[in-house]
Amino acid sequence: MIFDLHSHTTLSDGVLTPPDLISRAIEKGVDVLSITDHDTIDAYRDISLVHGHLKVVPGIELSTQWETTGIHVLGLNIDLNSDAIISAAEIQSDARLERARRIGERLEKKGVKDAFEGASQLSSGSYIGRPHFARYLINIGKSNSMNAAFKKYMGDGKAGDVKQHWAELPQIIRWIRDANGVAVLAHPLKYKLTRTRLNRLLDNFIEAGGQGMEVVSGWQTSQQTRDMAQLCAQKKLLASSGSDFHMPDKRWAELGMITPLPENVTPVWERF
Ligand code: AMP
Ligand code: MN
Ligand code: MN
Ligand code: MN
Repeated sequence: MIFDLHSHTTLSDGVLTPPDLISRAIEKGVDVLSITDHDTIDAYRDISLVHGHLKVVPGIELSTQWETTGIHVLGLNIDLNSDAIISAAEIQSDARLERARRIGERLEKKGVKDAFEGASQLSSGSYIGRPHFARYLINIGKSNSMNAAFKKYMGDGKAGDVKQHWAELPQIIRWIRDANGVAVLAHPLKYKLTRTRLNRLLDNFIEAGGQGMEVVSGWQTSQQTRDMAQLCAQKKLLASSGSDFHMPDKRWAELGMITPLPENVTPVWERF
């Protein structure tokens, strides 16, 4: 069975619409898929959760800040009609808009004109994010690739990296749990934390009610998988796996093309 519990659509920063993402997941042999757009559940508006062999598990990827680091928490198997998840999406969308204004001001100081307006025009729906600013920077000739735009303007510690608008980690976890979902720390290796800090993040996450972590996230080495599985088992967390697919592009793993979870961990889907 292939469980791909992390993916994006056009309702956040992915390139496929929800029906196209589902078709591609079926093509790639995925058995259980979660669409986890950034801070929104809009992808679930017009789709069914069962497509022959493929089952869709409702999900979301919530943004927050831990210490000085921007981190992401997946809410898996959430009740899409719960007040908790509806308010979470609303509050986080407002935070995104505020943050986008602030990013615009900060880029202005770096000599980038009308970035907020430019990024807004490129975004649709409730998600406005750094990829829209990066795309705008490319369009006006300030950068020549997404990577370059992130490196110079939008990445960690750069002008466009504004974190302080999100709801706090305990609130994020409470929303997920109140929506009867499972709170899973997304892509623990992506934050580039020292082992001491990653340990502390996981301890804080567990203390706040966090229940799982992604042991397999996108392309990773077997060494990384073993390492994350060991950490997951040690912290008595549930283990999740997902491609974090955004688009067919070498930066992202393909839907379903992820290694299975090692035997020494308890899969998060045992709780669904
Ligand atoms: P935001 O949700 O607004 O903080 O934007 C973060 C998103 O930007 C991530 O979810 C990635 O999809 C995307 N991203 C981050 N770094 C890069 C990069 N170097 N190139 C392309 N996309 C990136
Ligand atoms: Mn993204
Ligand atoms: Mn993420
Ligand atoms: Mn993601």
